[in-house]
Amino acid sequence: AEQQNFLSDLTGSFSSPCSENPTVAMMEAVYRHQGINARYINCDVGQQQLAMAVAGAKAMGWRGFNCSIPNKQTIIDYIDELGTSARVIGAVNCVIIRDGKLTGENTDGKGFVEALKEHIDPRGKKLTLLGAGGAARAIAVESALAGASEITIINRDQQKGQALAELITQHTPARARFVHWTAGIAIDAGQDIVVNATSVGLDDAEALPDIDIESLKPTQFVADVIPNPPQTALLRKAADQGCQTLNGLNMLVNQGALNLAYWFDRRADKAPMKKVLQQLFTG
Ligand code: NDP
Repeated sequence: AEQQNFLSDLTGSFSSPCSENPTVAMMEAVYRHQGINARYINCDVGQQQLAMAVAGAKAMGWRGFNCSIPNKQTIIDYIDELGTSARVIGAVNCVIIRDGKLTGENTDGKGFVEALKEHIDPRGKKLTLLGAGGAARAIAVESALAGASEITIINRDQQKGQALAELITQHTPARARFVHWTAGIAIDAGQDIVVNATSVGLDDAEALPDIDIESLKPTQFVADVIPNPPQTALLRKAADQGCQTLNGLNMLVNQGALNLAYWFDRRADKAPMKKVLQQLFTG
């Protein structure tokens, strides 16, 4: 008989607060599904504990871990090698440990672009982003690195929006411009892809970003980062305008798939991850 192995590979997450983070459910489901002898441990780790947590993960031979609030920037101090987009974005949410060496990646934007590419290739396209926070930053950088030609940042806070536009123009091959968000703002007919990267719609199926919905054209592709509820008011109204749409659940699933690929050098089966999130988000 085959010898028993009671030693699991360890992975997990360092963030605080973390009790509402569903990643553990998604990762353990895919590990089980693919017969990977690994655990994912959701750890409440804030700024004060990060150094010890990282040392602990190294000591215990963890394969890697995710980082979320408040550690996405601070973790960079402990990283030996940064992925290209993580360096430009200035934030890391996935760490890979190999031979005691830490590599940092940012999978927020990668997860989004991968989901987008299943429907439309951003190469050469004009993309409009609503928002200029962490998710918008990751999506803007990754879309630019994937070949989007022009990126328009629409944001309420001028300083944040301008800074993101400058970052894109200076550090990627894409051109970017900032547009100040005014109530009921119309989306240019020349835009190919429109992405809501604000938090509007999170936990509120009726909340709608304050744009002129009727300005959306059937040729435009509309995506939302909001994973819960997946079918946001924006996506429903965009579909009424004849637009093709993409919800934020796919982005989250793709981030889980990237975790697995980075930590175990294996292709992830996305179906069990998607199923878990759908069950959790529809209650
Ligand atoms: P941040 O707090 O960094 O940024 C929030 C952004 O939303 C800011 O640009 C802010 O504008 C804008 N915003 C908030 N309220 C409004 C409003 N009423 N009208 C217009 N703009 C508004 O958050 P994150 O970027 O980290 O996250 C944003 C969303 O993305 C969250 O809901 C999160 O759930 C989702 N997300 C989804 C992921 C996925 O995998 N599906 C991954 C990561 C995030 P201003 O600058 O003017 O304040």
